Amino acid sequence: MTQSLTILGATGSIGRSTTDVVLAHRDAFKVQAVVGGRDAAALAAVAKRLGAEFAALADPQGGAELKDALAGSGIRSGAGEIAVLEAVDREVDVVLAAISGTAGLKPTHAAMKRGRRIALANKESLVCAGQVFMTDAARVGAEVMPVDSEHNALLQALAAGANADVTVATITASGGPFRTWERERIARCTPAEAAAHPVWSMGSKINIDSATLMNKGLELIEAHHLFSLEAERLDVVVHPQSIVHGLVQWRDGAVTAGLAAPDMKIPIANALQHGGRLTMPLPRLDLAAIGRFTFERADEERFPCLRLAREALRAGGALPTILNAANEIAVQAFMSGRIGFYGISDMVEAVCAAMSAKHSRAPASVQEALAIDEEARRIARERAPQLEAAAP
Ligand code: NAD
Ligand code: MG
Repeated sequence: MTQSLTILGATGSIGRSTTDVVLAHRDAFKVQAVVGGRDAAALAAVAKRLGAEFAALADPQGGAELKDALAGSGIRSGAGEIAVLEAVDREVDVVLAAISGTAGLKPTHAAMKRGRRIALANKESLVCAGQVFMTDAARVGAEVMPVDSEHNALLQALAAGANADVTVATITASGGPFRTWERERIARCTPAEAAAHPVWSMGSKINIDSATLMNKGLELIEAHHLFSLEAERLDVVVHPQSIVHGLVQWRDGAVTAGLAAPDMKIPIANALQHGGRLTMPLPRLDLAAIGRFTFERADEERFPCLRLAREALRAGGALPTILNAANEIAVQAFMSGRIGFYGISDMVEAVCAAMSAKHSRAPASVQEALAIDEEARRIARERAPQLEAAAP
C-alpha cells in the first residue's frame, strides 16, 4: 500500500535521512509536501528529488528564490507561515516532523490535530507542550510514532508487555564528545569541539545538546510523555558504542532491549512503516565484529544539564517548557561564542529558578506553552550579558 507523506524539516539532517528511506521505497510512499526553514535552493532540490507536489519555506523572504528554483518542475510553492500551514493541511497518511527546536511545535501540532499519523523527530514539541500534545493526539486518535532512536527502541521493547509491569525504562547516551574530558577542560571548550559528535551526524543544535547531555534530559521528558512513564521509572546510562538504544526491565526481572546500528534511517523506516516492516539495504548487525559493549553512569557533575532536566521532569508543571526555551537561547549564545560551555547550564538553571514559582501548572494549550516559552526566552536573553562577562 502506498502511503502519502509530508516532511516537515525536509532539508535538515533527519529530513535528508528520510529522503534516503523514501527514495529506497519509491512504491511505498507518495510525497505530498516538503517544508524547510530558510534554504530555498536546498528545499527546491529535495522537492524535485522526491517528486513532491508542494514546497513551503518558513522564511517569507525566500519565496521568490524558491519559485525560480522550481520553475518548470510543476511543483507548487509558497513561503511564510501560511504556506507552512497549507503544507500541513494537505490530506496525507503520515507527517514526518523534523523541524528543529520549538519552531516545530505549531506545525507538528496542527498536523496531528487533523488526525494524521505523526512520525515524530521534533522532541522539543513534547518537551514544550507534551501534556497538551499527547492529550490532543488521544482525542483525535492520531498515532505518534517516535523517530528518536532511543524512543523508537523503547517503543519496540515496550511491545513485549504492559506499562504497569515496567520497573524501569532506560535510554542510552553516547556520552558526547566530552565523555572522558575533565571538567576544567570542558569549561574551556570551543563551539566546534562541542559540535563534533563521536557517533551521530546531526543538526547543530542537537549536537550541542548531546555535548551537554541536555539532549538526554530532553529525551527523558519525551519518553515520559510518549509512554506515560513517570520520572522514577525512567533512567539514562552512557553507552559509547550506541548500539543498544533503549532497555525495558520488567517486574519479573527480564529485560527487553532495542538494538540497531547507529543510523537514523533505521528508526525513521520503523516510524514510517504501517503494519509491516520496510526492507532496508543494511548489513546484518555483527556483534562479534563490534566485540565489546560498555556502560557507565552519566556524570551530572560534569554535565549539569542532565540534572536540570531530571529536576524539571520531576517538578513537572511548566518547568520542562521553561528549561527547553532557556536551553535554546543558551545554545545559541554558546554557538556564537558569547557564553562558555557551563554558561549554558548556568543560564538554564537561573531561568528555571526565576520562573518556577509562577508556573507550577503544565500549559493547558499550545498557545499557553508558547507564551511561557517566549517569557523564558526573554529572561534568558536578559541574563546573557552577565554570563558573557563571566565567560572563560
Ligand atoms: P537540522 O538543523 O539538521 O534540520 C532542521 C530542519 O528544520 C531543516 O530542514 C530546517 O530548514 C527546518 N527548520 C528550522 N526552522 C524552521 C522553521 N521555523 N520552520 C520550518 N522549518 C524550519 O536538525 P536535525 O538534526 O534534522 O533535527 C531535527 C529534529 O529532530 C530536532 O528536533 C532534533 O532534536 C530531532 N532529532 C534529530 C536527530 C538526528 O540524528 N539529527 C535524532 C533524534 C532527534
Ligand atoms: Mg536520541
